[in-house]
Amino acid sequence: MAEAATAHEFDILILGGGSGGYAAALRASELGFSVGLVEKGKLGGTCLHNGCIPTKALLHSAELADHARDAAKYGVNVTLDSIDMNAVNAYKGGIIAGKFKGLTGLIKSKGITVIEGEGRLTGPSTVTVGGTDYTGKNIILATGSYSRSLPGLEIGGRVITSDQALELDYVPNSVIVLGGGVIGVEFASVWKSFGVDVTIVEGLPSLVPNEDAAIVKQLERAFKKRGIKFSTGIFFQGVEQDENGVKVTLVDGKTFEADLLLVAVGRGPSTANLGFEEAGITIDRGFVITNERLHTGVGNVYAVGDIVPGVQLAHRGFQQGIFVAEEIAGLNPVVVEDVNIPKVTYCDPEIATVGYTEKAAKEKFGDDQVQTQEYNLAGNGKSSILGTSGIIKVVRQKEGPIVGVHMIGARMGEQIGEAQLIVNWEAYPEDVAQFIHAHPTQNEALGEAHLALAGKPLHG
Ligand SMILES: Cc1cc2nc3c(=O)[nH]c(=O)nc-3n(C[C@H](O)[C@H](O)[C@H](O)COP(=O)(O)OP(=O)(O)OC[C@H]3O[C@@H](n4cnc5c(N)ncnc54)[C@H](O)[C@@H]3O)c2cc1C
Repeated sequence: MAEAATAHEFDILILGGGSGGYAAALRASELGFSVGLVEKGKLGGTCLHNGCIPTKALLHSAELADHARDAAKYGVNVTLDSIDMNAVNAYKGGIIAGKFKGLTGLIKSKGITVIEGEGRLTGPSTVTVGGTDYTGKNIILATGSYSRSLPGLEIGGRVITSDQALELDYVPNSVIVLGGGVIGVEFASVWKSFGVDVTIVEGLPSLVPNEDAAIVKQLERAFKKRGIKFSTGIFFQGVEQDENGVKVTLVDGKTFEADLLLVAVGRGPSTANLGFEEAGITIDRGFVITNERLHTGVGNVYAVGDIVPGVQLAHRGFQQGIFVAEEIAGLNPVVVEDVNIPKVTYCDPEIATVGYTEKAAKEKFGDDQVQTQEYNLAGNGKSSILGTSGIIKVVRQKEGPIVGVHMIGARMGEQIGEAQLIVNWEAYPEDVAQFIHAHPTQNEALGEAHLALAGKPLHG
């Protein structure tokens, strides 16, 4: 594969250096391509700077606050004096800075050319940055997403999105969280642990509405127990704010007051005014439409990450970036369906799922073609030691493979690795049942759920 003829011509030119874009760049350079990576902000994108990493740092501080609060239960006497947001932010900032430095160094060491500035697609093989044209035999669009709001709901002052929430230098007394999806429940969880009075407002009938019904039930019960308030099934109407706080009104006239309103109603694709449509690319509600191999149908232009309709997760972006680099190299990579991508919601308790929910499996395979098994973490020694409750629910096609694993409980995110192998390798419960799960671990609970589904429960 050719070296770039000049610094303006590349085998692969990537617009956006977030999870999707930089993963494509790394894999492409590994495969011997010359790579240009256009980034207007910071390499690492949303995930590193405003998403996964900072929120998980906050959640870790939150977990420590809860541990301090509950420590006496375990015979350790400490007192939780206060949450020092400046120190929390310094810790969070240190993690981001370290990872950013590592990523920047890695990109440089691979010989990837980083082009700083805002790029615009000005032809099927051209991106223009600050008046200079750069060309790529292949182009990968990876411009990511932004925090959406609702029509007429203006962000500003006490009405914030996750971007501002991550920068707060104080702990508010009370917050209303608009949206009970992943980002909403994670912030609700952090703030509650920090001592904030939290109310979630979700228009759909439940929190985390995309999850399996059994998981939803467990989360709502756990949040109630934690004192996180929520209103579901009634839509938001409007918000007023003044120097003292916000007042949120729902369509049924009910009102809630708090210091802040966090708008967590989802993320929109960042595709406006970037020349995509002019280049002939199909855009639907802002998303770039591709075939299942992530090709846009125009020239050699591909798209990856949050701008492609589907679950907006960093590891989906990584996987898609790697996929496209390999596709361009002619390696014929395997398509991973969105449903089989592992998903973790890091609130307390954590939710970790992969594959079909019971409802989705019944829609796909037929009502009488699906079997399920729930294993309660009450039977798991390590979960009792940690003081967590929760469940593992396994969904299988009748007499067939496991098609879904749904887990909730402290630290259950760490169990998603085996769960995704089970689902993606289309394992049968009988296959999994013969494997050994170390004692005492929470991982055993996954083993026990499969033993039970294979008809030979050990402790069930
Ligand atoms: C609060 C929050 C928490 C999250 N937590 C998780 C989590 O725990 N796990 C998880 O998997 N996902 C999480 N996500 C989602 C994850 O961050 C995204 O799915 C991921 O970042 C998408 O990667 P991407 O490459 O598509 O886009 P992005 O990461 O958004 O990157 C796009 C990049 O393109 C650049 N760019 C855009 N337009 C241009 C242009 N015209 N010219 C040059 N550069 C441009 C941007 O500056 C940006 O760096 C979270 C998101 C948020 C907001």
